[in-house]
Amino acid sequence: MTDVVTETYERFYNSLLVQHILQHVRRHTEKKNHVLRNQRETDRKPSKPKRTTWQMFLDSLSVLCDHENGGETVAAIAVERTPRIKPDVTFWIAVNQRSRKGSPALHARDHLVYLLQGLKRITLQNEPGEGMMLDLFYTSVDKAKNRVNNYRKKLQDVLSAVKDRADEPLSDAPDKLLLEIIETLIDENKTVRSLCKKSSDFRSTDAARELARRARRDQTGSWKYICHFIGRLGAWLKAARFLAEHAADFADILSSPQTKIVPSEDCGKFAPPAEMWELETLLSRTLQPYYEVSKDRLDHLFGSNAFAAGSAQLKKCHGKGWRLQEHAEASMARFFYTGNRRFMNEERYIGCSKPSCMCCELYMEILPGALEQRPCHGNAWTQWRLPGPSLPVREEEITILQRMTDRL
Ligand SMILES: [Zn+2]
Repeated sequence: MTDVVTETYERFYNSLLVQHILQHVRRHTEKKNHVLRNQRETDRKPSKPKRTTWQMFLDSLSVLCDHENGGETVAAIAVERTPRIKPDVTFWIAVNQRSRKGSPALHARDHLVYLLQGLKRITLQNEPGEGMMLDLFYTSVDKAKNRVNNYRKKLQDVLSAVKDRADEPLSDAPDKLLLEIIETLIDENKTVRSLCKKSSDFRSTDAARELARRARRDQTGSWKYICHFIGRLGAWLKAARFLAEHAADFADILSSPQTKIVPSEDCGKFAPPAEMWELETLLSRTLQPYYEVSKDRLDHLFGSNAFAAGSAQLKKCHGKGWRLQEHAEASMARFFYTGNRRFMNEERYIGCSKPSCMCCELYMEILPGALEQRPCHGNAWTQWRLPGPSLPVREEEITILQRMTDRL
């Protein structure tokens, strides 16, 4: 690596680590601190832009194609239009290469082919059949069995943590009733099909409205997680329903599309230097001379144990090892940009099975070509990597990384 590449990478990962640590500290320290609230005003916020029908169609397809275990993967889909070359519609799919077993991209592509065939059949019928929609839904959750069960387990864990608190003397009665309803939802639906279906049905009940109210008022975050996991479990049916209802709108696109996998390249390797694993060094090297940072100042800003919480999180990041990962939507964005590919109907949108992370959002903003903004959860994942070939990277990519660092 040349000096400038090394320096750019160091600055980028140091800034990313600091973002990650500060996000962690804000969430895990004293929440009543006024300075903390003010600080949050300057955070990069989660965003949820209004999406067009086509954009929601692509997101829904991506949800049904994302079946890897763990709930940690993402599938991204974008559609290319090639005027004068037949067939002129190509559905491109990319997945995060987290799984080391089998080929998740191949599985996702095969399932995409199946879904597109099913949707085409729906367009050929006069009435969108509930039966066909359910076929798409059931086949998708069956393929995503491990993923569904992982969400079930996470929901159970957070539920028992809330239940422990509800048993404390000062808790109010509706907590317990709501908890019972959600517990019954999990206990009575042993199969992935029924759990996902009932979680989707749950969303239109009074209990769901009460849950949403609690999540909004909740200081601990637990009710928000309960809301989030039930939402995830209900996402398959919601997506299948949306696709079936809108397939006719895109009958032309669905008539004879190709499906292809975005080629992915080996992960680059870059480890921040050893001294970065001391929080004080990391903060001072990254933030000074703009901000004066010290243990006392961090504790003053974020609450009394902020520095300790930040240091512990930094150790945890180090302990996990440093395996950089290319995120699906970023590699799709680069693939369309470098190949000068045309998006279907000039709607420059990349569908994804989840909201994007902070780095993917920044990357898509900075990459020339003005991609449509997509939902973003705003989290900083420390092992994000610039999509494309391993080091050394091209000059243009170094500039992108520098601009991303400036905005982190
Ligand atoms: Zn990302």
